[in-house]
Amino acid sequence: MQRRIDGDLRGWGQALIGRLLKACLDRDIELLLETSARALINTEGRITGVTVTKDGVDQTIHAERGVVLATGGFEWDEALKTTFMRGPLTAPASPPTNTGDGLKMALSAGAGLGNMTSAWWIPTLSMSGHKWPENGAPQKEVQRSLPVLIERTLPHSLMVNRQGKRFCNEANNYSALAGAFQSFDPATYDYHNLPAYLIMDSQYVGRYPIASVMPGDPLPDWIIQGADLPSLASTLGVDAEQLEATVFTFNTHAADAKDPDFGRGESAYDRFYGDRSRPGAAATLGPVEVGPFYAVEINMGALGTNGGAKTNGTAQVLDVHGEVIPGLYGAGNVISNPTGSVYAGAGGTLGPTLTFGYIAGKSAAQSENAE
Ligand SMILES: Cc1cc2nc3c(=O)[nH]c(=O)nc-3n(C[C@H](O)[C@H](O)[C@H](O)COP(=O)(O)OP(=O)(O)OC[C@H]3O[C@@H](n4cnc5c(N)ncnc54)[C@H](O)[C@@H]3O)c2cc1C
Repeated sequence: MQRRIDGDLRGWGQALIGRLLKACLDRDIELLLETSARALINTEGRITGVTVTKDGVDQTIHAERGVVLATGGFEWDEALKTTFMRGPLTAPASPPTNTGDGLKMALSAGAGLGNMTSAWWIPTLSMSGHKWPENGAPQKEVQRSLPVLIERTLPHSLMVNRQGKRFCNEANNYSALAGAFQSFDPATYDYHNLPAYLIMDSQYVGRYPIASVMPGDPLPDWIIQGADLPSLASTLGVDAEQLEATVFTFNTHAADAKDPDFGRGESAYDRFYGDRSRPGAAATLGPVEVGPFYAVEINMGALGTNGGAKTNGTAQVLDVHGEVIPGLYGAGNVISNPTGSVYAGAGGTLGPTLTFGYIAGKSAAQSENAE
């Protein structure tokens, strides 16, 4: 690790983007930073360029071989979300610059749409004081939300809704969990599982992290505490009797590493993000029994939306009649995701995104219609 720090070596997403950036620089491709694409230029039905704005000044860029839309999803555009999403997406984990600009440009060119109700869903945690850096006036003070992966999977924790009831296998795959969070109660006309609360006991807090808070760290205000379960419930506004009953039932089975209600711990996936020093399903199951107790609010977020402009196998954007829009290509979360609403596994979003980016570049370069 020290060698990596000394050498300023980067891993994860930075390594991936660094490689792609190097490939551009090696080919003398000019990058325009802090520059927003605003509109496509349509010349007699063919997309021949794009208008961009930098420091308030418009500029036109002509594209001989085509324009590739790669502006990400629309998870930060309230109007698009309200129109298309199948349920609440209130706390995205992605940067706030993903406002569906490319989708709007595709729509203005007559693009057909697919997969619009879907996203790479993920439960998220919003720490107070954790804001996206100021990036132009509209984004000032924008709440930053973090994916909740291991916290809902480690032992000595469970998740309840506002009624104090569990509603899912907490360790389930995060994208599929959205269905449980977005369950709609016709009697109360309400998304009754939102917000949810992750409840942890002192065993959890003594051993495991909660976002960036490590065992032994002082606890910030967004981690709510209660000496016992009723006092925690009262601070959260959750039914105290029901919470106690839920925790009692959970504990009865968790002590034997079992969860007959939701099957937590039965699949290898459930145990993957758990405490693998513990055997079998105990990697994810342990009683919530030692006070004081702790809670954090969980909301529905996304790594990005994944519906958008329909494309064919060569990444060309199709119009509402399924015909190719000449000169317009797309890849990533701005297009209708090639795997539909399915998150197929590790790299399930970056894989198709990189693949279609590659295909889009190739097919634009080989375009017969290029001037
Ligand atoms: C916290 C987090 C963890 C993730 N982990 C994983 C993982 O482990 N595995 C995996 O497969 N996926 C993961 N993802 C998802 C993955 O990062 C995205 O699905 C992927 O980055 C989408 O790629 P994209 O190129 O379509 O869009 P993005 O990567 O979102 O890039 C779009 C870019 O376009 C820019 N833009 C927007 N509008 C304009 C405009 N008008 N003009 C110019 N630029 C514009 C945006 O600022 C942004 O930089 C994660 C996402 C998050 C947020």
